[in-house]
Amino acid sequence: MKTPVLIVGGGPVGLAMADDLGWRGIPCVLVEKTDGRITQPRMDMVHVRTMEFCRRWGIVEWVEDAGYNRDYPQDNAWVTSLNGYELGREPFPSPREEKPPPQSPQKRERCPQNFFDPVLARFCESFPHVTRRYRTELVEFTEHEAGVTARVIDHTTGRDDTIEAAYMVACDGAGGGIRERLGIKLTGNPVLTYTTNAIFHRAGLEALYRLAPAYRFIFIGPEGTFATLVAIDGRDHWRFSLVGSRDYRPLGEADISAAIERAVGCRFDFEIISIMPWTRRELIADHYGTPRVFLVGDSAHQLSPTGGFGMNTGIQEAIDLAWKLEARLAGWGGEALLSSYEIERRPIAARNVHEAADNLARMLSSREHRPPPEIFLPGAAGDAARRVFGERFTATMRREWFTLGIQLGYRYEGSPILIPDGTAPPPDDPATYVQTARPGHRAPHVFLAPGRSTLDLYGRGFVLLRLGRTPPDASALVAAAASRGVALRQCDVMNEAAEALYERRLVLVRPDGHVAWRGDRVPDDALGVIDRVRGASA
Ligand SMILES: Cc1cc2nc3c(=O)[nH]c(=O)nc-3n(C[C@H](O)[C@H](O)[C@H](O)COP(=O)(O)OP(=O)(O)OC[C@H]3O[C@@H](n4cnc5c(N)ncnc54)[C@H](O)[C@@H]3O)c2cc1C
Repeated sequence: MKTPVLIVGGGPVGLAMADDLGWRGIPCVLVEKTDGRITQPRMDMVHVRTMEFCRRWGIVEWVEDAGYNRDYPQDNAWVTSLNGYELGREPFPSPREEKPPPQSPQKRERCPQNFFDPVLARFCESFPHVTRRYRTELVEFTEHEAGVTARVIDHTTGRDDTIEAAYMVACDGAGGGIRERLGIKLTGNPVLTYTTNAIFHRAGLEALYRLAPAYRFIFIGPEGTFATLVAIDGRDHWRFSLVGSRDYRPLGEADISAAIERAVGCRFDFEIISIMPWTRRELIADHYGTPRVFLVGDSAHQLSPTGGFGMNTGIQEAIDLAWKLEARLAGWGGEALLSSYEIERRPIAARNVHEAADNLARMLSSREHRPPPEIFLPGAAGDAARRVFGERFTATMRREWFTLGIQLGYRYEGSPILIPDGTAPPPDDPATYVQTARPGHRAPHVFLAPGRSTLDLYGRGFVLLRLGRTPPDASALVAAAASRGVALRQCDVMNEAAEALYERRLVLVRPDGHVAWRGDRVPDDALGVIDRVRGASA
C-alpha cells in the first residue's frame, strides 16, 4: 500500500489531521490500534480556535448537535461537598446561551471526546481519499530519504501489511512509541500527580443536593483540593477525578465509590462505567520530528488538563502541518517549509504546557495553605471564614477560566517563513486577546456581512487581501505566486473595521489563516516574498 501521508493514531488530533488533509484533497491513511470507541472521554472543551477550524470545514452544527446537553449550566464551583458548603462560583452561560467573543464568529463548545471524535471521524468519511483503518497497529517503521516504510498489523484479520508513505504523522498520543523510536526526548516534569478518573452513571444527580448545578465542582476538604466532578454529557454521566499527588497510590473501585460519596455528601446508587488511572505531566518533546516523521498532539507534549489546552494545542499543530505537507507534496513548498513546523509550534506548546501546570498549582494552592477549619462549621463564624476563603480561591482560579489569549493569541514569532514588519508584538497574555494582523498572528475576524467573517476567506491556498476603496496594484505578487505554482487568490475588502484592524492595504494570509506578510505596496522583490512564505528562501 502506498500513500502520501500515513497518520498513526485516531484520537482527536489524528482525526483532525486526516480531516484537514482530506479537506485539502490530500490522500492519507490513518491507522488506529483500538476500535475507536471511547469509554473514558478525556477532553470535553473545544476552544474557540478549534471551532474556527470546524467552521472552515463546515461542521460547526455537527459539534453543536453532537450530544452534549446545550442547556446545562457551565458554572465552575468550589464546595466542601455537594451537600456541604459552597465556597465560591464562577458563573457561565449554558452552551446554548453563550455568545461568541467579539474577536471571533465562533464560541467555545462543550463536546466531550466520545461526541467529538465521532464528529471528526464523520468528516473524514466524506473524503473518499481518506482511509481509516481501526484495530490496525503500527508495529515498526523505517525512515529513508524518500519517505517511511511502515509495518502495521490488522488485529481483526491478523494480517501484516507494509505501508509506504512519503510522510508519517505521529498522532499516537502520550503512550505511543514513535517519539521514542526516533530518539526524541521529553523535557519537563514527568509527574505532577497520579490521578484516577472514573466515569459514572447516575440520572438525576442534581436531586441529591441543594446547591445550584455546575459543569465542574472542585471539592475542598481539610487537606485542601482533593477531587473534581464534571458534567461530562450534561445529563446523567459524570466524570469524577481524584486528583491525587506525586505519591503513587493504586485505588480500587471501592476507594473510588467511597470518594464519590464523600464528594456528593450522601450515600446513593450509581454505576461506575470505567476507571482510568493516569499520570499528569508537564512535558514537551525536544524536537517535533525528523525530515519525514512529525510529532503532533500528545506525542509532542503532555500537559495537565487544567485549562483544556491539550487537544486544542494538538489540533492547531495539525492545521499548521497540513498545508505544509500539501505544499511539499504538490511541489510548490520549499525545503524550509516543513522544518518551520517545529519552529512555529514548539514555543506555543511550551507556553501552554507551563500555563496548564500553573493552573494545576492554583487549583491545589488550597493544599499548601490549608483551609481554616471554620469553613467546615455551621454558623456565622463559618460563613465569614467561607467568604474570605471563597473569594480568595475564586480570584486565584479566574486565570484558568478566561483564556482567550491562550486560545487565539498565539503567534509564530521568529518563523523563517514569515516576513516581519518591524512592529512590536502585543503582550502574550493568557486572558486577553487583542486582534492584530501583524505577521505571524491569526488574521483577525471582522464580519463583512451578517454571518460572513473575514475568516471565511481563508483556508485554501494563500489569500491576498487588498483593503480599502482604491487598493494598490498587487499584480506583481499574483504573478510571482503563479510563477512558483503557489495558489494565491486576491480578495478585495472594503470594510472600515477590517481596514482598521489589518492596518495595511495589502495583507497576505497563509492557508492556515495566519498572516505571512503585510504592507502598503508590493515590494520590488515580489518573488522574494513568495519564496520566503513558501519556505524556499529561509
Ligand atoms: C481528564 C482529562 C481532560 C481533558 N480535557 C481536555 C479538554 O477539555 N480540552 C483539551 O483540548 N484537551 C483535554 N485533555 C487532553 C486531551 O484529551 C489530549 O490532549 C488529547 O486526547 C490528545 O489527542 P491525541 O490524538 O494527540 O492523542 P490520544 O487521544 O492519546 O490518541 C492517540 C491514539 O493513538 C493510538 N495509537 C497509539 N499507538 C498506536 C500505534 N502504534 N498504532 C496505531 N494506533 C496507535 C491510541 O490508541 C490512541 O487512540 C484532557 C485530558 C484529560 C486526561
